[in-house]
Amino acid sequence: MLVVQKFGGTSVADPDRIREVASQVARTRKRGDEVVVVVSAMGKETDELLHLAAQVSRTRPGREMDMLITAGERKATALLCMALHDRGVPADSFTGSQAGFLTDTNHMNAKIIEVRADRIRAALDAGRVPVVGGSQGVSTERDVTFFGRGGSDTTAVALAHALGGVCEIYTDVSGVFTTDPRVVSTARRMASISYDEMLEMCACGCPKPAMRAVEFARTHGVELHVRSSFTWEPGTWITEEDPSMEQAIVSGVVSDDSEAKLTITGVPDQPGIAARLFRRLADLDVNVDMIMQNVSDHGKTDISFTLPTDDVQTAMVACGDLAAEIGAAGVTSDTDVGRVSLVGAGMKSNPGVAATVFETLAKEDVNIEMISTSAIRISCVIRMDSLDVAVQALHTAFGLDVAPT
Ligand code: ADP
Ligand code: ASP
Ligand code: MG
Repeated sequence: MLVVQKFGGTSVADPDRIREVASQVARTRKRGDEVVVVVSAMGKETDELLHLAAQVSRTRPGREMDMLITAGERKATALLCMALHDRGVPADSFTGSQAGFLTDTNHMNAKIIEVRADRIRAALDAGRVPVVGGSQGVSTERDVTFFGRGGSDTTAVALAHALGGVCEIYTDVSGVFTTDPRVVSTARRMASISYDEMLEMCACGCPKPAMRAVEFARTHGVELHVRSSFTWEPGTWITEEDPSMEQAIVSGVVSDDSEAKLTITGVPDQPGIAARLFRRLADLDVNVDMIMQNVSDHGKTDISFTLPTDDVQTAMVACGDLAAEIGAAGVTSDTDVGRVSLVGAGMKSNPGVAATVFETLAKEDVNIEMISTSAIRISCVIRMDSLDVAVQALHTAFGLDVAPT
């Protein structure tokens, strides 16, 4: 069997961790499997490099940012190879470019065009362990590119697809949990979860695994195993939904505090206004999520929407301009909001989930400001300082807590 093993920042944070990872790779090889390794930058190095860039430059050209950030992963590949050599495991480090990742020219957010994995295949055939720098490639203009935050998961999945293997994503918790195990101590590890449910959880703010990687895995049918590099115990499989199994009504609860709410008040209730507003935001690359329009009162209405907090400044200026043009009353922003979401494939066929969500939040005195749903998700925008209480209450209400021991 061929296994792509991807190790996140915490998993390779220091020399001890790197040596431990090397031992695990050596154990996997001893079992008779072929191993390809993908590594992230050590610990918080990506954040540190971003911070460094911000200190020396206002403009931060994309080409140079990508050259800088990918150095983090490159360093980790060489160190891990050295530790593997010490264990008698022949290993070679590869940058994304050397590993055959061809991308577009979109710096800081490059998309993979093709994976030409022949060098990696050749290393495997020669009995060596290739160690590949995550989240990086070379563009059609032959410049180094970075895939964006969390891109190493995508590197791993793409390699598993190109080489025909399974993909293990090692991190600092033992799998995908019913909610963030660092926030809710009664969170339960799932043995498995479908691609669709995982994608909804990612879209609602679950950081692990990266959404792009799950999308790639679903499209190409790559099986993902999320597990711990601290305990090495079996973790969570992300696979196709098994139609022969009865679906849990609710699989997980996710919170997200990275979005803000913007409201335009006293908007004339006429055709074409919303179209103008959201076209203008789209042209500025502002990714709007939930949208709510109030019932119109005397021909005026309020329009609210959520957006990434980082885009609030840009959106405020654009909406201010538009408000003046159309004669709206004003624009306000609110960054103290958060979103709590419930995800579960069984929601499709079980009525009453929304009612239980609203009752549970009401019992905790949590006011719901906006609601949005899909076939397998319910999300509510609430005050940011109510997020933890809401997550815990919903987790308990839907029977997700681990049984007390
Ligand atoms: P890595 O650095 O290994 O790529 P991240 O730090 O990006 O991993 O993500 C791992 C973290 O995700 C965990 O430490 C955990 O606190 C957090 N997390 C949030 N929600 C969940 C969840 N539902 N299941 C598992 N981990 C979660
Ligand atoms: N090191 C990068 C990050 O933290 C890319 C990755 O490892 O996924 O986002
Ligand atoms: Mg991390």
